[in-house]
Amino acid sequence: MKTSKYNIIIPSIETDETILFNSLYGSLTVWDKKEIHIVNSYLSQPDSIELNHLPIKSILISQKYIIDDDVDEVAIIENRKRQGIEDGNRLDVIIMPTLDCNFDCVYCYESHRPSRMTDETETAIKRWLSSEMPNYKVVMLSWFGGEPLLGCERVISITNHAIKIAETSGIFCVTHMTSNGYLLTRANIQKVLEAGIYDFQITVDGTPETHDKLRVLKNGKKTFSRVFENINNLARSDERVKISLRVNFNQSNLHSIPRLLEMFPKDVRPHLRVVYEPIFGQCSMSATENLPAQEISEAMASYYKLARELGYDVILSGASGYTGKLVYCYAERQSQVIINYNGDVHKCSVSNFEPEARVGYIRDDGALVKEKNWNQWFSTDLFEEKCYSCVYLPLCMGGCRKMRSQLQNTGSYCTLVPTNSSYVLKQVALQGFGDLLTNNSDKGGDA
Ligand code: SF4
Ligand code: SF4
Repeated sequence: MKTSKYNIIIPSIETDETILFNSLYGSLTVWDKKEIHIVNSYLSQPDSIELNHLPIKSILISQKYIIDDDVDEVAIIENRKRQGIEDGNRLDVIIMPTLDCNFDCVYCYESHRPSRMTDETETAIKRWLSSEMPNYKVVMLSWFGGEPLLGCERVISITNHAIKIAETSGIFCVTHMTSNGYLLTRANIQKVLEAGIYDFQITVDGTPETHDKLRVLKNGKKTFSRVFENINNLARSDERVKISLRVNFNQSNLHSIPRLLEMFPKDVRPHLRVVYEPIFGQCSMSATENLPAQEISEAMASYYKLARELGYDVILSGASGYTGKLVYCYAERQSQVIINYNGDVHKCSVSNFEPEARVGYIRDDGALVKEKNWNQWFSTDLFEEKCYSCVYLPLCMGGCRKMRSQLQNTGSYCTLVPTNSSYVLKQVALQGFGDLLTNNSDKGGDA
């Protein structure tokens, strides 16, 4: 027997217990002081015959903290990644009907410009969807921008087209829209719901005092009250509606989150899936530059817990604590494209969408023409050298492909920042998600 490479030991400062987590298999157990001593001994000498605590040993084996000598854990992870990149069952399409936006958020990385999709591009995209969609079992169609509702008619027309293809070809089609929420008027809500879009992401950056400093209209006017009202109307308009309520935080609004959570009416909360994300970058706006990691970690644990207590939908901090992840981000998948308003095809949404960054384009006849940037995007190694010795690898799956490629695979980039796995694990350790843990006594351990 040997010890898994992916065991992570986290002392819980609140309960004096120790959490043992395995990032490859997802096992989570809690051990008291006496037990952890024996656990540690087994983990350092899995085949020891001197230790005689069989209940503990059997838990360590059944939960795969200790594994057979011939298990190649690196090969398991490499296979997962290849499966994710080559997955031929699912097509991910993000369409941006415009790069323009009615907002001028102070931290936005996009450069908004007047831009609208033409009839010709709409027709080309529909042709491409008609020929491509039947090759897949599942199609994820997402709307993004700029603000996609500035091109609402394109959204409705292309979504209707995709859903018709899905219905006639027996494809499961999932639709989604990322919007700033300002144009989700009652009239537009009715249109998007009729088109079959029930899943949304809308950002609210804290209470009116903080949100209205960060997310303003182009003319500088405040947006909170209208977005807040639209979210409530949207949530109440159909039982199927789900809204990811995203809060981008930094030092200015992190601690306004509890007051924001109290503001939404109780009947709306179950429709809202809360997601807190730090504002990135090395700038004065950046959460990670201006807030101590411990403060972020504790706030996350406590505010997710609060959200759940108040009746919101809470998933453990996005996908970062979830084991079984196949790729770092959607852009690693071959069957994923972002189609710009002008028919250019890109892979990554964190972009200015300049024509030279495109990886291809949709031709008028509906063919996707892949250019040299496409091959370059997929020429990056599965993982960098340093990732092979990283205990978080199964949770992270190797970090941002774009950054790795820009840094020419030098291994100088690591995505271990306060949004991802290490922090999720700290949330667990801080008991933010205590009920997700399986106490070993529940499984008959009595040593
Ligand atoms: S990018 Fe960083 S966190 Fe991710 S696997 Fe590589 S070393 Fe680990
Ligand atoms: S910036 Fe990196 S991680 Fe983010 S979407 Fe682009 S490729 Fe993916």
